[in-house]
Amino acid sequence: MSNNNATEIEKQGKASVDKGVLYVVATPIGNLADVSQRALEVLAAVDIIAAEDTRHSGRLLQQYQITSKILALHDHNERDRAPDVVQRLAQGKSVALISDAGTPLISDPGFHLVRLAHEQGFRVVPIPGASAMLAALSAAGLPSDRFVFEGFLPSKGTARKKRLEVMAAESRTLIFYEAPHRILDTLTDMVEVFGADRHVVLARELTKTFETIKGDAVGNLLDWVKNDPDQQKGEMVLLVKGLEAEANHSNEQEAQRILKILLEELSLSQASALAAKITGIRKKPLYQFGLTLSESN
Ligand code: SAM
Repeated sequence: MSNNNATEIEKQGKASVDKGVLYVVATPIGNLADVSQRALEVLAAVDIIAAEDTRHSGRLLQQYQITSKILALHDHNERDRAPDVVQRLAQGKSVALISDAGTPLISDPGFHLVRLAHEQGFRVVPIPGASAMLAALSAAGLPSDRFVFEGFLPSKGTARKKRLEVMAAESRTLIFYEAPHRILDTLTDMVEVFGADRHVVLARELTKTFETIKGDAVGNLLDWVKNDPDQQKGEMVLLVKGLEAEANHSNEQEAQRILKILLEELSLSQASALAAKITGIRKKPLYQFGLTLSESN
């Protein structure tokens, strides 16, 4: 976007925010081009931007010539600062909340402020955009209809293992944020708690130059990361296939094995009905699998 466009956004933007509203604005997780047009308009138009790290966010704001007043709101001062910010809303000011990257409140500050704004009757408006957890899930190739976001695991070994044990039988896809200096320990714990065969995806440096998305049995993934120090760097998300999905997969494979045997003696319709009865897998996908077998013969 050219500087002229940025100035244009600032001018137009003044009309696009309401007084006394808190805007929760998502910013990029690496690639600055991922910021939305609406986010830029709101950031340019608000009276105050509450940012996790004013210097860090300064880069994004500078790039788009956004000059709104900025104040710091981070983990250490949020409880003290939130009443001041809500006071500004009460004075009719518009406020945008941003974090260092991605969506505020997602493993980032903002919860106390958003809660207080609601408690005091102010409107809170989300301006959606990037979040590492959803970017990772969208590209991981794991079931995405039901998932659990666990944020960061505990940093200490015993607590981390305990947390993983609680999640071991979870059937939904699990999503964790992890720090690079803990990736080997966490993968080692996952091998121990989930078993070396559980499918895990490492999504690293998303939207950036060295973006890598690698899925494998967690035992293999651990070896791969161990043998390549580059994979131990940068920002990362770990996604774990849920247990039921694993179980269903092996159940499906077993049904297909039985179907193949039955097909030696029976018609496709009879064999798929019987294989479905034996394994509890639906007949239709088995019938379709049988069709692909006869096509490939
Ligand atoms: N609010 C952010 C969001 O919406 O994703 C998350 C903030 S949290 C403090 C930072 C963690 O998010 C990183 O340690 C990493 O686990 C994950 N993360 C952020 N950016 C990422 C990226 N580009 N690629 C992979 N993981 C990322």
